[in-house]
Amino acid sequence: MQLIPHFIAGQEDTTSERRGPVYNPATGEQHKEVAFATTDFANQAIAAAAAALPAWRATSLTKRTDIFFKLRTLLQERKAELAAIVTNEHGKVLDDAAGEIARGSENVEFAAGLINLLKGEHSEQVSSGIDVHSIKQPVGVVGCITPFNFPVMVPLWMIASAIACGNTVVLKPSEKDPSAALFLAKLFQEAGLPDGVLNVLQGDKEAVDALLESPTVKAISFVGSTPIARSIYQRAAANGKRVQALGGAKNHMMVLPDADLGNAADAAVSAAYGSAGERCMAVSVVVTVGDIADELVAGIKDRLGALKIGDGTKAGTDMGPLITGEHRDKVASYVAGAAAEGATVIADGRETLFDNDGFFIGVTLLDHVKPHMSVYTDEIFGPVLCVVRTESYDEALELINSNQFGNGTAIYTRDGGAARAFQFDVEAGMVGVNVPVPVPVGSFSFGGWKDSLFGDAHIYGPESVHFYTRSKVVTTRWNDPSTSSVNLGFPSNS
Ligand code: NAD
Repeated sequence: MQLIPHFIAGQEDTTSERRGPVYNPATGEQHKEVAFATTDFANQAIAAAAAALPAWRATSLTKRTDIFFKLRTLLQERKAELAAIVTNEHGKVLDDAAGEIARGSENVEFAAGLINLLKGEHSEQVSSGIDVHSIKQPVGVVGCITPFNFPVMVPLWMIASAIACGNTVVLKPSEKDPSAALFLAKLFQEAGLPDGVLNVLQGDKEAVDALLESPTVKAISFVGSTPIARSIYQRAAANGKRVQALGGAKNHMMVLPDADLGNAADAAVSAAYGSAGERCMAVSVVVTVGDIADELVAGIKDRLGALKIGDGTKAGTDMGPLITGEHRDKVASYVAGAAAEGATVIADGRETLFDNDGFFIGVTLLDHVKPHMSVYTDEIFGPVLCVVRTESYDEALELINSNQFGNGTAIYTRDGGAARAFQFDVEAGMVGVNVPVPVPVGSFSFGGWKDSLFGDAHIYGPESVHFYTRSKVVTTRWNDPSTSSVNLGFPSNS
């Protein structure tokens, strides 16, 4: 059986005896296994990153830029190959996999232009004969821990900026679809990145714990579920590291009575069921305002029949399987409990039949969902869309703002004033106005509020430059020896 190795100091490593299974979700077969690092092995990976740091932080910005331009070209040339790797281990359809590579490439483009954002500031003559300037320096070795649902894009959210800022990285990808990270590391190497600057450490909690405990690791970027994000944030901070930990979501799409309901139904279906709902920015709750609910729910229902669910490698497939059989069963259990909780089941994904043992489930649409129901309170992370009916904008807003999560949200309306009020009032980090999945372009930063993000730095874009650098302020005087004297007073500016 194929073993997916670590990638340390530019070399594949297959020596780990601990291993985990990797499945093809479209067939349900375990077709590969992945190496699982021990603490000792993780410390070797961290040491490799530390060894590469002095030379990398001294590498010119021009040379770094050149590597990112080459990487962008390689990502474009090898997009189909990488998309096939993603689909093979994650299950999402090939177009969707290609889409995440394109969105991840935005972070590579941003990194290629980072020379602009790494500029410091300079003030001349702050006191007589004294100038001050600031510089941005890398923080050191960065630990990056990523989830299964975007095995290319989320690693690129972190590693592109971290590396361009002069840091070295140990990337611990999800053990469920680990091959894409390995492929990325080899592309970086082909683009000219020196060995040891980007290391891929495969594994589970043991590898993550080693990153959190190592004094050599100075910063942690994490993306995953909320309970793990909260714990990573607390442990990394207690160990003196800077940390950003992005968690889960329950994204609401508010539909006002004046919205184009056909447009809103298209958006709800696309955003709820794309990638089988395994997106942190998926719409999982539609909030209707006023008396449009019957018509909107009917419009969504009408569109479900046309969705083709199956093997993501087959042309024309809209939605693939879930990541594991265990996760599929968990999603099914939420659907099973929905009617008993009082929801109206318009479509039950468990009723869709499939002709193989892949981790498939059909699409579920639940109406008359109430805020106390577990299908509303919990992040299901599957193709389940809840509809909550409200009477007014204020009631809908109160619902969204009371939710534990605050990742993305959207409003559908033709009223500019209402949209403006929504962006002013809503408690979420990313807002779409007639855009259901408002993932910011790579020149902005991504991050939620409330339990969707622990830490104060959003990820990628301008905030990543702040997160992955330390600033140093230098005060300079070129003395004229003839004016030098002893003065024990506290230096004051004059
Ligand atoms: P997860 O939390 O199970 O795993 C994420 C990473 O943490 C993996 O690398 C995993 O190996 C590691 N991990 C798991 N358990 C751990 C533990 N006990 N201690 C230390 N490390 C541990 O998440 P997942 O299932 O891979 O991904 C789905 C989740 O990620 C969803 O909740 C989704 O909303 C979230 N997500 C959030 C964003 C965002 O930007 N906010 C983006 C993508 C995914």
